[in-house]
Amino acid sequence: LRGVIALDGPSGTGKTTAARGLATRLGSGYLDTGAMYRVIALAVLRAGADPADPAAVLAVAERTELTVGTDPAGVRVLLDGEDVAVAIRGGDVDHAVSPVSAVPEVRARLVDEQRRIIAEVLAAQGGIVVDGRDIGTVVAPDAPLKVFLTASPEARAARRSAEHGATGVESTVESVRAAVDRRDRLDSTRAASPLRAAEDAVALDTSDLDREQVITALTGLARE
Ligand code: C5P
Repeated sequence: LRGVIALDGPSGTGKTTAARGLATRLGSGYLDTGAMYRVIALAVLRAGADPADPAAVLAVAERTELTVGTDPAGVRVLLDGEDVAVAIRGGDVDHAVSPVSAVPEVRARLVDEQRRIIAEVLAAQGGIVVDGRDIGTVVAPDAPLKVFLTASPEARAARRSAEHGATGVESTVESVRAAVDRRDRLDSTRAASPLRAAEDAVALDTSDLDREQVITALTGLARE
């Protein structure tokens, strides 16, 4: 399949790992739109601004230069030229990113940038897997394949907790679950582009699937 593959869903569904694996298998590009919102959230925190203050958030977003690479083998994430791939995964950014991404003007800027990157990669490579919350509904509503990943709250908390373990952040499954629940509640109830499945999205429940099984299921959908 050529064109855009839109992968949406809440955190902890294995979306990012699966999106990268799928893009690698298909030889296409990959865009992690969550990383873009995370860079802005990190910039807000570093500026000492309040993530809950939309005007302050927008002011930071307007002066932040962000770069997110599209190679699924190693995703480059830069904030004003500095490599922040690790810093954007911290618990402080997890906490700040939902209010930051609820600011409509921030979304408008990032959606424009995402569409520009998608067009560039499509022209060069013919295909791109885009991972986010609003790809099938807002960023690329004409995508020929849209998948909405879901998983039980238990499976999602266990995955997030394993990811945090892997990055050295100490946390219990319970505290991770509370943080994940909070973020999904904020993402699903915000006024601007809330998290929801596109009408023509295929639903995939990943609760009982491991990484390889999710990638295989997605590859199957892409080749249908
Ligand atoms: O995918 P990830 O967990 O890194 O996304 C971080 C946050 O960025 C989400 O919780 C959500 O608030 C925001 N986001 C968004 N729209 C996207 C991707 C991410 O609002 N397309």
